[in-house]
Amino acid sequence: MAFTIDLSGKTAVITGSNSGIGLGIARTLAQAGANIVLNSFTDNDEDHALAKEIADATGVTARYIKADMSKGDECRKLIEQAGVCDILVNNAGIQHVAAIPDFPVEKWDAIIAINLSSAFHTTAVALPMMRRAGWGRVINISSAHGLTASPFKSAYIAAKHGIVGLTKTTALETAQEPITANAICPGYVLTPIVEKQIPDTMKEYNMTREEVIENVMLTRQPSKEFATVEQLGGTATFLCSAAADQITGTTVSVDGGWTAL
Ligand code: NAD
Repeated sequence: MAFTIDLSGKTAVITGSNSGIGLGIARTLAQAGANIVLNSFTDNDEDHALAKEIADATGVTARYIKADMSKGDECRKLIEQAGVCDILVNNAGIQHVAAIPDFPVEKWDAIIAINLSSAFHTTAVALPMMRRAGWGRVINISSAHGLTASPFKSAYIAAKHGIVGLTKTTALETAQEPITANAICPGYVLTPIVEKQIPDTMKEYNMTREEVIENVMLTRQPSKEFATVEQLGGTATFLCSAAADQITGTTVSVDGGWTAL
């Protein structure tokens, strides 16, 4: 069997994909031939322009569907509106940094809803579509924080560990079908979600921006380099290839050695 990666004719729905890792994964899957559904909770001209840009660059069909991943019914409607979902990338995520006694309850609820429960809702609607199509890939974007912990990120770490568990259960429920479910666990990638953490962490640790990057973020990343959205796109595309047919229920770390420590 030739292990080329040709996703022509497949449709990928990527939640939270109008920036950062989701957009990087969408661009790479499109380069491999997959039709693309982009998503976020906004409905701006720029969101739709991103879909057009991907379609123009690659020749695939790409569209943008607004849906708020903090709401279960909108998560489900996103997949229904997509109509077909061969590749589901559960990527939408937010972060909040605070010690547990000070952690705002509404932030806890939002993080659990967007970073974890949304994947349950989208997967519930996507799996029957994958079964009808006779092929499917569920790719959950967890984190190095799905395998290890840090202080001040209780909700994020709970959600990211939770999505690893959901990934394993999804894999077991589909194990004898041509469907796989895996989680990608990135280390630090310099995207807007990370940019937003820098001021909070500066305050929490009384550090400069440079000190936060060097001494907090990349201190646990032995490569001392951020991972890139292109590398994550490549990892997701590999998980869609025939070479990955027997890779299911596991995590793939893209973290410069973080979890080897
Ligand atoms: P980002 O802020 O650039 O992207 C987050 C995406 O989620 C955006 O497109 C945003 O619009 C979307 N989103 C947020 N709330 C939403 C909602 N309610 N409904 C729909 N979409 C919503 O950040 P990113 O770094 O690209 O993060 C993407 C994923 O990767 C997240 O799950 C994050 O936890 C994970 N991750 C990021 C890093 C990193 O270092 N950047 C590391 C590990 C894991």
